[in-house]
Parts: sequence; C-alpha cells; structure tokens
Amino acid sequence: MRTPIAQLPEKLANQIAAGEVVERPAAVVKELLENALDAGATHLEVDIENAGLSLIRVKDNGYGIPKDELTLALSRHATSKIRTVDDLFHINTLGFRGEALPSIAAVSHFTLTSRAEGTGHAWQVKGDGGKNMQTLPAAHPQGTTVEVVDLFYNTPARRKFLKSPRSEFEAISDVVARTALAHPNASLVLTHNGAENLRFDQAQGTLLEDMLPRLADFMGRDFARNAVQVNAGRDGYSLTGYVGLPTYNLGTNRRQYLFVNRRPVRDKQLIAAFKHAYHDLLAHDRHPLGVLFLDLPPEAVDVNVHPTKAEVRFTDASGVFGLIRGGVRRSLDAASQQVSSTPGSAALRGFQAPTPQWHGNYSAPYHGVQETGPSFDFQAPPQARADADEAQHAVEQFAEHPLGAAVAQVHNTYIIAQSDRGLIMVDQHAAHERLVYEKLKKQVLGQSVEQQTLLLPEVVELPRDDAALVADHTAELATFGLEVEPFGPTAVAIRATPALLGKTSSRDLLLDLVEDLRTLKEGITLQTRLEETLSTMACHGSIRAGKVLSIAEMNALLRQMESTPNSAQCNHGRPTYVELGLADVERLFGRR
Ligand code: ADP
Ligand code: MG
Repeated sequence: MRTPIAQLPEKLANQIAAGEVVERPAAVVKELLENALDAGATHLEVDIENAGLSLIRVKDNGYGIPKDELTLALSRHATSKIRTVDDLFHINTLGFRGEALPSIAAVSHFTLTSRAEGTGHAWQVKGDGGKNMQTLPAAHPQGTTVEVVDLFYNTPARRKFLKSPRSEFEAISDVVARTALAHPNASLVLTHNGAENLRFDQAQGTLLEDMLPRLADFMGRDFARNAVQVNAGRDGYSLTGYVGLPTYNLGTNRRQYLFVNRRPVRDKQLIAAFKHAYHDLLAHDRHPLGVLFLDLPPEAVDVNVHPTKAEVRFTDASGVFGLIRGGVRRSLDAASQQVSSTPGSAALRGFQAPTPQWHGNYSAPYHGVQETGPSFDFQAPPQARADADEAQHAVEQFAEHPLGAAVAQVHNTYIIAQSDRGLIMVDQHAAHERLVYEKLKKQVLGQSVEQQTLLLPEVVELPRDDAALVADHTAELATFGLEVEPFGPTAVAIRATPALLGKTSSRDLLLDLVEDLRTLKEGITLQTRLEETLSTMACHGSIRAGKVLSIAEMNALLRQMESTPNSAQCNHGRPTYVELGLADVERLFGRR
C-alpha cells in the first residue's frame, strides 16, 4: 500500500542529518574542535564524561558568536563561512556546511555559551533534542563553550551501534591528537572523567622541527627517531612532514596520517602515492609510517565531496600524486644510508639479558687457568694468520669509512666490521642483493645491460600457457639482458643472462620471472614491473648466506655499499646492516 509523500518535520530532518555528521561521540568532538579553530581559537579544552555519552564539553578562546546570531547558529544550513557558490570552491575554513551544530543539538541536551569579541556580556542558548530553545544571559570569557549532554538520548537506535566505551573514548582521543598535530600553534587539553588524558602545549615556533615533540607524543618516540623530514613543493603546493625510514615499517597502513590544508583525510590516491615512494624499498605487504601535510591553494581542492569531509578531490590529481611520491622519495634517498635503530635496540635488549645456560656445566675448558689467567697456546694456521694480518691492515685503512673495516665473517652469513664509531654487522646476502639490484637498474635504465652468452642454450620445459606467456614477453626480458626464445609449444631456450648475475641458475631465474609475469596484472605501471623484475633478478644474482668470503671480498662489499644509493636496506625493506655505537657497547659491559 502506498503512503503519500509528505514534507518531514524539521526535527526529524535534523536527526537524519545528524546520522551522517555525528555518528559517534568522536565525530561531535571533531566538529566542535573545527568550529573553535575556525573561530581563531588558540586554547582549546575538551572535557569528556563516560566516553562522551554523558558529556562532551569543548571550550575555546575564539572570537565567539554575537547574541543576535546565536539561534541562527543552531539552524540548518546557517553558516558564517560561505556566501556564494564561488566560495564553495575557495574554502579556507574547516567547516562550511552549517550542519554540525543543529545536528548535534537534535540528538542531545545542548548548551552553547559564548561571548563575542568586543562585547561585555556572554549569552547562552540551550535546548533539548532541538526543542524548547531558549536564550539566557550567562557568564563566560571571550570565546565559546559547547556542552553536549546525554548524546543520542532520543535516538536509542544510534546508541546501540556504538562500540565499547573504551573504543569510543579512544576514537575521541585520536581526533584530539590528530587535531593537535595539524594545528601546532593551538594548545589542546583533553580530560576524561576528570583526569587529564592528553595535553599539547603550543609549539614554540613555526619550523617543522618544532612539531617533533607533538609528533613523538602521537606516533611514539621510536617513530621520531626513525623518521626523516619531508619538505617539498612547487607552484603554491607544499608537502611537509615526517615519514618513517623504509626499515621502520608496519603490516598495515594504519599509521599514515595525511592532512590536506590541515584537514585530516583518508584518501586512497594519496595513500597509494605515499606507498609508491617506497616502492622498491619495501615488500608488498609492508607499509610505511608517516605524517604528511599537503597545503595547496583552496581552489585547487574540492572538499565538498564527503559528509564528514574525509575525502577530497584535486583539480590536478596527478600533480599531487607526483609531489607526494617525489617529495617523499627525495627525502628517503637523502637518508638512504640511515637504517632504523629499532631492530637494533630490540636486539640490544637481547644482548642485555644474558642467561648463561652453559655456566657451570661448561667449565671444562677453564680448568687450571683460574690462578694463572687464561693462557692461549695459539698455533694459528697460515691462512688464519694471513687473514688476521689482512684484517689488521684493513682496520688501519678503512676505520674512518662509514661501514668501517671487515674483520671477520660469522656463520658464513654476517660480516663483522669495525669503524671509529663502533661495530657494524652486515647481512651479506641482503647487502649484495641491493648492490646487484641498483647496478642492474642503472644498466637497464641506460639500456646498456652487459650480457653473458651461455655456452649452450639452456632449454627449460614449461607448461604450455607459461611458455606462451614467456614468448609474449621476449622483448621485455631482453631489455633486462635475458635472451630467451620459444622452443616448441612447451619449452623456451635461454641464450644469455645479465652478466651481473654471475653463475646463476638461469632456469630457476626464468621460473621466478614467470611467477612475476603471472602475478603482475595488467594496469601495473612500467616502473613497478621494472622494479619487480629487477628484484627477482638481483635475488638470484647475489651472494648466498652461507658463502665463505675473504677479508678482501668483504671489504670490497662494504666499499660498494657505501657508494650505492639505498644500500641500507634490501629490496624487501629489511636492513642490510646494523650498527652498534661504541657507547652502546660500553653500556652493554656496564662501562657507562
Ligand atoms: P559550519 O562550521 O559549517 O559553518 P556549524 O553548524 O558547525 O557550521 O556552525 C555554524 C556557525 O556557528 C559557524 O558558521 C560559526 O559562525 C558559528 N560557530 C560555531 N561554533 C563556533 C565557535 N566555537 N566559535 C565561534 N563561532 C562558532
Ligand atoms: Mg562547523
């Protein structure tokens, strides 16, 4: 049966609108903070009771609202921020829809108290679920306080969708912290049930560095230690912030915070651009961390595409994409010799908690030496003697180099080096893989890949569809120095491989490349293809863990690492070396 069309009463319309704008307490906090900042406030206080369900109070020292505009502020589509359609495309405030206050008032017991700049008296407007509005004189310093009591008291369905008080409060605290990050010149205090939860003092200056303390509070001290500054821009666009070193990464993109004109946004394109900057520095399933501020002329961005303004549109999307990818990448390249200190400190903790299980039941070798001290009757075999001499010579020669002088190899996998500053431990496979990758990349980009022709072509049997796939890509593979040709419907013949890869199994390499061709779907950029293929090749061409290296070979590797970009991490984002400063070593032994 059909019901006739009817105009909705305003109160119901407001409740519907409230569903979009304020779906949870944190959203109310976000809207109120935005209003305070739009009013030029520099001190903001947020008081919360019971995860925002009993009380949300936001107090500011902004320019306030004059008495005769108070009730207007609470009606829908009433705003002081835009006047014309044209304004809609030059938005330089956080709000502009004129929907937040009426929406919040519709679903709470609501009080707004304000004293406008240059007036002597404060006024208050209050109501219940958007009804019984009244205006009264009040006491208040310049600025505004909004009190939201019993949120969703008249929309029980909405309450049912809320999560536990704990997670609702976490969301509030997250909103406050993000706001603080984006507005370092305002102080912000958050209290919950009377106890202070967050406090951000005004930043001391306007430099990017001045933001670090807030950043450390928000992202953690580890992040601040493992981040590099980003500062890029062009044509009125600027990108600033801090991003994590590639070796400091996460399994999700949860810790990526992007702000467009100081507005937090969650935008797939921007996230993709950010990730792209790490492309060949991180494994696919790992994600970088970072806080980035994109500031651009208001007319270059449309913020009116999402109810809570979490998504935006750009007039020059590819320019923005390029700025983010390029700006972040330049900072990473500049810091390419820096590795995350975090794995190091975790390992250090391992060092610091020795549980000497051998103690007591492994005392035999020390029998008889207690009184005289250990006496080493050391008949060094000639090769060891030669190595020792060479190592000593290397120390004299290379101690000042960043990666120092190789003095030993342990477990046939790690190189131990000594520098003026401390100890360095290098993962020989990861490091060499990076070197091969970077060299090969250079050759491929310069279209000058050195090839080694196989004495006899290696014929590799493949399933029919794989053989066809390879046949389709012979030209592409040739640009990488891999010469293959079809050999009947179910095989291909490999004629030459890149010289850099040395004595590699060309068959295994081809099988891995077939996997790449299968998984790298259409639509992927050429760049990505290139890097994937290079990674696969580099992995095949590098020294394996387990290979014995001479002191000279190890030192050659270290010197090459020093002159190769991005050599601090392997293609999968793992560090290729770790460094233990002398001070850390001294600390380990209690000398400090
Ligand atoms: P919008 O922010 O989109 O304009 P709101 O409903 O959030 O819409 O607020 C309506 C208007 O009330 C604002 O345009 C602003 O003029 C005024 N206002 C709201 N909060 C404050 C505040 N804390 N200080 C000063 N003015 C405010
Ligand atoms: Mg607003």
